[in-house]
Amino acid sequence: MNDADLAMEPDDDAIAARLNAVQEKIGKAAVAAGRDPRSVALVAVSKTHGIRAIRQALAAGQRVFGENRVQEAMTKFPQLKAEFPDLILHLIGPLQTNKVKDAVALFDVIETVDRPKLAEKLAEEVHRTGRRPRFYIQVNIGNEPQKAGVAPHDVSALLALSRDDYRLPVVGLMCIPPAGQDPSFYFTQMAALANTHQLPILSQGMSGDYPAAIAAGATHVRLGTAIFGAR
Ligand SMILES: *Cc1c(COP(=O)(O)O)cnc(C)c1O
Repeated sequence: MNDADLAMEPDDDAIAARLNAVQEKIGKAAVAAGRDPRSVALVAVSKTHGIRAIRQALAAGQRVFGENRVQEAMTKFPQLKAEFPDLILHLIGPLQTNKVKDAVALFDVIETVDRPKLAEKLAEEVHRTGRRPRFYIQVNIGNEPQKAGVAPHDVSALLALSRDDYRLPVVGLMCIPPAGQDPSFYFTQMAALANTHQLPILSQGMSGDYPAAIAAGATHVRLGTAIFGAR
């Protein structure tokens, strides 16, 4: 350990304080929408941040975390999960089929099922290992050519294939709405899609737009910057 590790950094209370502030804002947004604040879960997105910052969040009581890269998560979370058995880790970034094995071994929730081939590989691994992460389908709700996610009109087919044919436990939908537009329009469409397919989980809302996401029915908001600061 070097001096910097031993020193009490000014940041040490900042993460706890930001978590409190965010939880308060989540609660207010939920109540304003006539919802129970406990119906909205906070996923703390720790990508690019080190174990020290994650430990601060854990010390403040946070237990649900999100990472967007399998490789990076593997350097940080195995030890933390051993120490905190109630830690729940979400994969929120794109998943390549050659990382399926590692992803199924480490993550408790995989939010980014977005194509038939991936669903097939995930199902193989789930049935081979008996590990049962939960899965969400990522929807490209703005139909953006460069963005990951299944097109809204293909959700039905991918869901039928994943859940009914491959028997993957798919419980929700996830999206990142188009940048620079009013996200509420997209969040509302996502809520309708989840409702149509009777999926109880809706993962939407990031640091810049989570109150709107909650107003539209988000059950999970994914916040990085608002908790850990700029990346
Ligand atoms: C990075 C990331 C987030 C968190 O973004 P912030 O703006 O820092 O809150 C949420 N969802 C996904 C998919 C991400 O990649």
